[in-house]
Amino acid sequence: MDLEIKDLINSSIKSLTPYEPGKPIEDLEREYGIKNAVKLASNESPLGPSPKVLTTLEQVISGIHRYPDGNGFRLKEALSSKHSVDMSVLTLGNGSNDIIEFVARCFLSPKDNAIYSKYAFAVYPLIVRALGAEGIEVEAKDWGHDLQAMLEAINKDTKIVFIANPNNPTGTWVESKALLSFLDLVPATTIVVIDEAYYEYCEGQDFPNAIDLLNKYPFLVSTRTFSKIYGLAGMRVGYSVSSPAIADLLNRVRQPFNVNSFGLAAARLALDDSEFLAESRRLNTKGRNRIYAGFSELGLDYFPSAGNFVCVNLARPADPVYESMLKQGVIVRPVANYGLPNHLRVTVGLPHENEKMIEAMAIALSS
Ligand code: PMP
Repeated sequence: MDLEIKDLINSSIKSLTPYEPGKPIEDLEREYGIKNAVKLASNESPLGPSPKVLTTLEQVISGIHRYPDGNGFRLKEALSSKHSVDMSVLTLGNGSNDIIEFVARCFLSPKDNAIYSKYAFAVYPLIVRALGAEGIEVEAKDWGHDLQAMLEAINKDTKIVFIANPNNPTGTWVESKALLSFLDLVPATTIVVIDEAYYEYCEGQDFPNAIDLLNKYPFLVSTRTFSKIYGLAGMRVGYSVSSPAIADLLNRVRQPFNVNSFGLAAARLALDDSEFLAESRRLNTKGRNRIYAGFSELGLDYFPSAGNFVCVNLARPADPVYESMLKQGVIVRPVANYGLPNHLRVTVGLPHENEKMIEAMAIALSS
């Protein structure tokens, strides 16, 4: 009897559906014949990277016949100085998704479980289930992480708890006091990943910085990325800060050259430009406020967000609105796969992009 692929498949992979990325601009332009589309679908920075980054890329070209530095020494050196941590606590990833996967691979076997919140970032269940481990999804509270319920869900087989702070796609966040009360009660046998992909956009004293908590809670892993405020999503660079013992484990499952030469050089220079970072944060806060106002004018509720995106409740099926906006040249993100079929997530863009998005949504809602 001939075997088919479906007979060979690892049973943990069988039920998975691939991560759905935002629609690329080229797809929209090709399919709809639209020019100058606006993409506010993948939480990328509308400003791109610091101009300083671009000056380094030509120099990298001359060395592309060589493997990148597998240890990422110069980037780690810069990160260690930025965060005042030893280089031994850093792990570099091909985006922070790579790191999330390292943590799962290091700690989860099929008899274990990992906990995450309803509406939390879609990559957690994908990675956990791919490893044959159990994913425990805890009900959300006010659309955000219910830390008390997450604590109660921890059992003897719980190896990891994932907390996205702020969370994508809801933009909700966990404040310092609540996080500390939670961490005080988490058993020492459970790793807590604080996914801080949007950390640099967050403002206010109540916002916890997981890196500052590592000395007190050695089971913490903070994951960060260059894909968001640093404007380098296409370069695929992320990192984690953890105890040296955890970093040692993560580095065991890391592919030797997982971050490429361009990514390493660009990320290192991006770190230096704090003025550009502050400007990106200002632009985001202003744009987010404009989007809030636009949604309010349209009579729509939204989740206040700590990130560079806003999730809006259309109070009707979002798909036709999404389609209409596509035809008008504006790509936003449906979030039905998160159990939010009436919501859309929009990324904060440049001022004219935000205006075009609000206008397109108004037209879509009135038709
Ligand atoms: N965590 C969260 C919460 C995210 O929204 C994203 C990107 N969508 C990531 C992690 C991964 O980003 P990257 O792999 O580009 O660093």
